[in-house]
Amino acid sequence: MCPGPQCDPASCVAQPVHSDPVTGVGLSSGLVLGYAGSSERATSPPSMSISEPDLGNLRIAIAIASEAKARGKHPFGALVVASDGEVLAEAGNASGWPDGDATAHAELNAVRSASRRFPPERLARATLYSSAEPCAMCAGAVYWSGISRVVYALSEKRLLELTGNHPENPTLSLPCREVFARGQRRIEVLGPVLEDEAAVAHRGFWD
Ligand SMILES: [Zn+2]
Repeated sequence: MCPGPQCDPASCVAQPVHSDPVTGVGLSSGLVLGYAGSSERATSPPSMSISEPDLGNLRIAIAIASEAKARGKHPFGALVVASDGEVLAEAGNASGWPDGDATAHAELNAVRSASRRFPPERLARATLYSSAEPCAMCAGAVYWSGISRVVYALSEKRLLELTGNHPENPTLSLPCREVFARGQRRIEVLGPVLEDEAAVAHRGFWD
């Protein structure tokens, strides 16, 4: 798991992709709401419901995933958005030999980029949007960053259906809610949302 404060920023290869806002409407019927974590340290409760800005930001994450795919990288995208709507960081997947390290998942890249440039109090009310449920490593990065909210599109289960037994994505069957539940602060988790839209970026990639 990510060592958090011991991470070496110099090794981060976060690659911001674009910053154009994308708005969207609609709500997936597969939405699952829930908190993870056991502490009462959160200064104020974040929103427990999905909003139109949430859906728009999630669609940006999905668009970043498609751009990563176009670069030959795994089709994943993520962005960190402050409570006032400012995009603090965004990144696509950048892993893979020889130009990327194995830990350069989109969520990890975005969290590292945001946490290098913004103070903890800014991150404490920020949301990580991801085109797929954060893996255990990336969930750990979210935890150590202090980010208090996660909204994701594809569940790990749906992702596994898309990737099959592809050797480059041996999915960890460990829901991010379970990772967060072991921590000492509360992290809100919304998802899966817009799974069918997020699945499009994976078509043909894992064949
Ligand atoms: Zn990950």
